[in-house]
Amino acid sequence: INVGRMSIGLPCYVSATPNGILELLKRYNIETQGKKCVVLGRSNIVGKPMAMLMLARNATVSICHSKTVNLAEITKQADILVAAVGIAKFVKADMVKEGAVIIDVGTTRVPDATRKSGFRLCGDVDFKNVAPKCSYITPVPGGVGPMTIVSLMKNTLLAATHKIY
Ligand code: NAP
Repeated sequence: INVGRMSIGLPCYVSATPNGILELLKRYNIETQGKKCVVLGRSNIVGKPMAMLMLARNATVSICHSKTVNLAEITKQADILVAAVGIAKFVKADMVKEGAVIIDVGTTRVPDATRKSGFRLCGDVDFKNVAPKCSYITPVPGGVGPMTIVSLMKNTLLAATHKIY
């Protein structure tokens, strides 16, 4: 019921990770209207709600997934690229447009012997090589993750204190 309400723009609990991303876009004054947004991934918790919410913000949205043909041709058109694939450094510099806004949702654990935990988190974007091309890019860790936590707390508070529907 909640997903249905979200899809038609009724009051609802907005999916946490996409809501955190929308908050980032808002706080950095990034225009969505008329922009070409490409969402990599179509999961129920990130890709699909993200695409739906960007559509509601008047972006022109494409969704890519594992069966997408010529994926780089599509990502290169993106003014705003949201990567939620779960493959470390999947998005390379030649897949993004100059000046694009890049939102990296991915958090893949990669082995790292220098860490006490034995791993570090790696995003879906090849940050080092992609960052110089972008107008904005979120880091991993420290970008989308904390925003997801804040959004979950917000939804929890709303659920405890308001009747949304
Ligand atoms: P998921 O359910 O595994 O979905 C991954 C999506 O990526 C699927 O739609 C899949 O396509 C697509 N995909 C896989 N390989 C691909 C390829 N080679 N080319 C194009 N698309 C491909 O993952 P998720 O739950 O959305 O999470 C994605 C990543 O974000 C993970 O690393 C996860 O840990 C991270 N995450 C982070 C946060 C945060 O707060 N930072 C929150 C949620 C998730 P198909 O549908 O065709 O299989």
